[in-house]
Amino acid sequence: MKTALIHDNYGINEQGHFTVCGYDTVELAKEYGTPLYLLDEDKVRAMSRLYTFNAKKYYRKARILFASKALSFKGIYKIADEEGLCCDTVSSGEIFTALSAGFPPEKIYFHGNNKTPEDIDYAARSNIGCFIADNLTELDIIDETAARYGKKANVVIRITPGIDPHTNVKVVTGSVDSKFGNAIETGQALEIVEYALKKKNINLKGYHCHVGSQIFDPQPFFDAADIMFEFIADAKARTGYEAEVLNLGGGFGVRYIPEQKNLDVEFMLSEIAGRVRENCEKYGIAEPEINFEPGRSIVAAAGVTLYTVGNVKTITGYKSYISIDGGMADNPRYALYQAPHYPIVANKADTDMDFVADIAGRCCESGDLIEEQVNVQKAEPGDILAVCVTGAYNYSMASNYNRLPRPALVMLSKSGKRIGIKRETLEDLIRNDI
Ligand SMILES: *Cc1c(COP(=O)(O)O)cnc(C)c1O
Repeated sequence: MKTALIHDNYGINEQGHFTVCGYDTVELAKEYGTPLYLLDEDKVRAMSRLYTFNAKKYYRKARILFASKALSFKGIYKIADEEGLCCDTVSSGEIFTALSAGFPPEKIYFHGNNKTPEDIDYAARSNIGCFIADNLTELDIIDETAARYGKKANVVIRITPGIDPHTNVKVVTGSVDSKFGNAIETGQALEIVEYALKKKNINLKGYHCHVGSQIFDPQPFFDAADIMFEFIADAKARTGYEAEVLNLGGGFGVRYIPEQKNLDVEFMLSEIAGRVRENCEKYGIAEPEINFEPGRSIVAAAGVTLYTVGNVKTITGYKSYISIDGGMADNPRYALYQAPHYPIVANKADTDMDFVADIAGRCCESGDLIEEQVNVQKAEPGDILAVCVTGAYNYSMASNYNRLPRPALVMLSKSGKRIGIKRETLEDLIRNDI
């Protein structure tokens, strides 16, 4: 089995080494050490433009909000700003990081099912653009906080449309019994809209829904649009209020392994636009500003993680393990969701993937794996193992479990490379210990 280059920014050079953005990953591992996150900045920009270009092409008015929980550090907010994206945040920490990078506060949206009063105060003080309100308690706090600052807070209300997009249950968020939002089915969605309209310091902008993640098919977005437009019409009939903004969420699928397809972003956005227009006609309402919130889809393929192989253990008659110098501390996605991964022995990328092994991390947990029984090149100690498509939910989910310092992140571009996040030191690990 030959190495599959599953994204257009991946390659194999004359030395037979795996490349990202044209850079030899074996050289990068030598220069910066491992484990190491690579982020192809050109790919992030290309994906951002694919969304902004098609949003402009197919919608009366649309905004692309980068869901920054997928990857949050100062450098990514600078790129997002330069590419004309707004940002979703879910904590004071993400807002602070964005602001520290010079990201315009008015383009920050604040999400979350349990924002603390301190978070809400910080967001209001920072003049963020919009709250995505999850519940009645939160609406009270937003209203009181805005009043304290003599402001009116822009608010979009999170609605649960009751859709199962057929992905991993842990990433389904739009079903009626979800911890997020307000269900249409139970009447609670209409109640919260009426409640928000009575608040003096809340400027209700519209509604939000998010059906899940790793969606490759436009159907769940069609269903969401149908349900949300019916809701807009019902809410209008009941209260006279017509939403200016409809946020259809994120969750656009990404190819992690050769068996998956690459998402056609233009196809998705144009198809969804068609459905939006049909619904506007059906209910006789003006086309609202449409928001999308891609996170994974913007950054995942831009990321590759490099590790050094420590040992290769074959348990006679059972199976083999390739052990690497990272694992669940820098990439918990397999441990959390059995998310599929595509590993390549970077210094042997031109040889056959005819060895079958589990890729094991270095943490003291049997569940610390990156992939099980996967086809890969025959690995030896000292080889560089590249794990593809790790730009999303890797660095942002990384921990110091087993007191492992978080790896550095190197940003790659055709115009040069630079460190975006320094490697943590042993001193960093004890910084807050008394
Ligand atoms: C996580 C999340 C996103 C982004 O999801 P992706 O799968 O990374 O595109 C968007 N919106 C909301 C509300 C989310 O919770």
